[in-house]
Amino acid sequence: MKNNRSIRMFFAFLVIALAILACDRILGTPSAPTPQPATQSATVTPQGTPVPEGPVDPNAGSAGLGDSLYPGFGNGGYDAVHYQLDITVTDVATSNLLAVTTLDAKATQDLHSFNLDFIGFEITGITVNGQAADFDRTGQELTVTPAQPIMTGDEFTVVVEYNGPPGHMQSVALPFQTGWVTIEGGSFVLSEPDGAASFFPSNDHPLDKATYTFLVTVPKPYEVAANGVLTETTDHGDARTFAFEERAPMASYLATINIDELDEETMKSRNGIPIRNYYSTGLPEDVRKPFARQGEMLDYFGGVFGPYPFEVYGAFVMDTQFGAALENQTMSIFGMDMINLQDVAGTELVVAHELAHQWFGDSVSVADWGDIWLNEGFADYSEGLWIEHISGRRALDAWVKSQYTEVLQYPQYYPPPGNPPADNLFNGGVYLRGGLTLHALRLEVGDQTFFKLLQTYYARYRGGNASTGDFISVAEEMSGKELTNFLEDWLYSEKLPPIPALDLGD
Ligand SMILES: [Zn+2]
Repeated sequence: MKNNRSIRMFFAFLVIALAILACDRILGTPSAPTPQPATQSATVTPQGTPVPEGPVDPNAGSAGLGDSLYPGFGNGGYDAVHYQLDITVTDVATSNLLAVTTLDAKATQDLHSFNLDFIGFEITGITVNGQAADFDRTGQELTVTPAQPIMTGDEFTVVVEYNGPPGHMQSVALPFQTGWVTIEGGSFVLSEPDGAASFFPSNDHPLDKATYTFLVTVPKPYEVAANGVLTETTDHGDARTFAFEERAPMASYLATINIDELDEETMKSRNGIPIRNYYSTGLPEDVRKPFARQGEMLDYFGGVFGPYPFEVYGAFVMDTQFGAALENQTMSIFGMDMINLQDVAGTELVVAHELAHQWFGDSVSVADWGDIWLNEGFADYSEGLWIEHISGRRALDAWVKSQYTEVLQYPQYYPPPGNPPADNLFNGGVYLRGGLTLHALRLEVGDQTFFKLLQTYYARYRGGNASTGDFISVAEEMSGKELTNFLEDWLYSEKLPPIPALDLGD
C-alpha cells in the first residue's frame, strides 16, 4: 500500500536526489506532510468488532483470530483452502451483482457452527456439503450452522448465494473507502486490511491464505483484471466471462476484481516472468512509461530477495483518483494520482514499492496486523534498493538521510513502526522508520550478512506468515549477533535511534 501522504516524500526526494547527482549538494528539504483527514462515518458496519468475552461454545468456531489490533478479523475453527467467486455484474454503473462464493475448507476442530466475514447484500441461500444450512448475521459476522456437525479434520464445502450492490465500506484502519469501490465507468477492489468482506464471504485475516478461482461476467465492452492467470474468456453475445486462477496461497485482502474498458500490454522479464499490464482505455500513452522497467525490477529484486513468488505479475492503472496504490497479489493497482507523468523516475519508486510487496506482504504475509512494518518498511526500503541499483550507493545514502531528517523533524507523523495505532495502521512510521530500521540493520551486520538474512527470511516464510519476532530470530541466527535490543529500539522506542555511520542523530 502506498498513499498520497507518503508519496509526497518521494517526489520531494527525487528532486533532492537528482540535485545531488547533478551538483553534489542538497538543494532542498522535504516538505511537512499534511495531517490525514478525520475518519468518515461508516455506512456499513466495519470489521473490528471485539470478540465477545464470556463462556465460549467449544463446538462453535470463534468469531475472530485474536489479532492484536483487530481481534474480530478472521474466524477460528477451520482453514480456508480454496475460494471460487462466480460473479455476474448485471449493471456496471451500480455494481449490482449476482454472486456465488464457494469455499472449500478443512475443520481444525469439531464444529456445529462457524463464522465467515461478510458485509451487505441479500443472502438467498447457504449450503454446507450440499445441504441447506441455517445462518445468522451480526455486523461483519456471518454465522453458519450446517445441518450436520463437522468433525475435526473434515473437508467441507460452503456455498453462499447472494445479490445486490456492494455497500460503502469504511475501514477501521485508514481514512478512506476500501473493498469493492464503484466509480464512473467501472469498479476496482482495494481491500487492505478489511475490505474483502465487502464483496465475498471469507476468513478475512492474512493468517488464513487460500487459492482462488474468479469467474466474472460483465457486459461488453467491459473487461476484468483479477489476480493470477487469465485462463479463459467465454463469449455470451452481449456479455463475457473472464476466468482467472490464482494458484499460489493468497491473503483475502489481496484478492482483487477490477472492471473497466481496458487496454492490455504484455511483456516478459529477461528471466522469463510474464507481465500483463492493464490501463483504462483513453489514458495518455505516457502513463505506461513508469511501468516499462517492471521486468528489470522483477529480475533485480529476484536476485536480491530470492525467486519471484508467483507465476505472473502486472499493474492495473485506473482512470480515477483514489489516493492510493495497492500490491494486490500479481496485480498491483494504481490510481492516476499515484502517477506523475512529469516525473517518471519518481513514479518508478511507487511501482518498485508495490512490486517488492509481492515478496514482502504478499508471499511473506504478516501474522498479525501489528507487524505491518514487515510489509511497509520492507517495501519502503526496496525503493532505496532500487535507487541504489540505478544510481549507486551515494544516492541511497542521500535517500536514507532525507528519510531520517523527515522522521526526526516531524516525529508526530512517524510513530515507532512496531506499535501502529489501530485507527491509523498505515502511518508514516511503518514506512519511513520501518525502512530506516532495515538500513540501520544493514549497517550493523554488513552487506553480506544483511542480504543473506533477507533471503533466508523470505525462503523460510515464503507462502506463509511471519512476525517481527520471526524476523529478529533470523537476523540473530544469520549474523551470530544479539540484535533484539538494537531492533526493538528501532521498532518500539519513541526516540529515533541514531545512525552513526551516516552521522545521523546523536
Ligand atoms: Zn506498501
